[in-house]
Amino acid sequence: MSSGFPLSLTTDPVADSERAAILADPGFGRYFTDHMATAVWTRDSGWQDRGIRPLEPFTLHPSAAVLHYAQEIFEGLKAYRHADGSVWLFRPEANARRFARSARRMTLPELPEDDFLTSVEELVRADEAWVPASDGEESLYIRPFMFASEAFLGVRSAERVTYSVIASPAGPYFASGVTGVALWVTSQYSRSAEGGTGAAKCGGNYAASLAAQNEAREHGCDQVMYLDSSGKSTLEESGTMNLCLVTSDGQLVTPALGRILEGVTRDTVLALAEDVGLTPVERTITLDELRAGASDGTITEVFAAGTAAVITPIVRFRGEGYDFAVGNGGPGKQTLTLRELVLNIQYGRVEDKHGWMRRV
Ligand code: PMP
Repeated sequence: MSSGFPLSLTTDPVADSERAAILADPGFGRYFTDHMATAVWTRDSGWQDRGIRPLEPFTLHPSAAVLHYAQEIFEGLKAYRHADGSVWLFRPEANARRFARSARRMTLPELPEDDFLTSVEELVRADEAWVPASDGEESLYIRPFMFASEAFLGVRSAERVTYSVIASPAGPYFASGVTGVALWVTSQYSRSAEGGTGAAKCGGNYAASLAAQNEAREHGCDQVMYLDSSGKSTLEESGTMNLCLVTSDGQLVTPALGRILEGVTRDTVLALAEDVGLTPVERTITLDELRAGASDGTITEVFAAGTAAVITPIVRFRGEGYDFAVGNGGPGKQTLTLRELVLNIQYGRVEDKHGWMRRV
């Protein structure tokens, strides 16, 4: 059972005027709030030293296992300020469960769901002033993470682990409006393999993705689209977002789970599909099918779903020897409708029929 995360207030908070200047143009991941949550696990004593305390650097022994073997996991979720000033989290229980699944894959200790939720809520409460008032898409991005902090160079599961949560104000993802992005379909790199770590949110997956991301940039694309590692024939996901297609016969199709990350936004979109007249389908999608469908019009829209950008229209795919557009080259109608619906729920502008919002 959690014994809570008691608060030690900072004596040196960011000045109100400086915070206001940051919140006016926060960008993404550049500024951090005054506090952090921490807890430490040891094999002998379990979870202890839970608390919310002033944000400060970690002290790590140079042999700390995470620095060598990347035994590390993380999560990403947001706190939203509603028009009445109240602050809410969106489906944090889903992030807590995914964090536990990632922990199991990386043989890190499971943090009880209650500790995950309490640490996030108490941190947001302590740093409430950092949750931007929003008339667009501002939010407070929350980053829970856990890493092997044991000083030991042997390759085995660490016996000392640190859990922490930090938070960073985030501005609207699309500064110049939602227009649509191009994806580079990499045939050189893969994100995961059968039996690998694709379904876990572990740092190593993202380190490995940087080369593919650079490759995408070199080909004039914004993000990467990954194929399965063996046949290079089925679509998996983008670098930090899940893939969804809309078909002319009213289906919302997304790759089935397995090697991909089980996105909270993906699950949300599947649950909302019927509200916008689409039938949700989870199955294998091949690249050939996408190319044919984009060309004959049976695939009308493509978008990517993830916490950071909510829903990103995908209007073009490029790969070795091909380059094709989807739909009319701009964001699709269903894409924009779903995007608006998710945002309206997150910002409290419509009834939360699914009970997804959790008040802080
Ligand atoms: N796939 C990957 C690889 C991701 O990093 C993310 C972001 N967490 C997603 C999909 C989308 O997940 P979510 O909707 O939970 O943000």
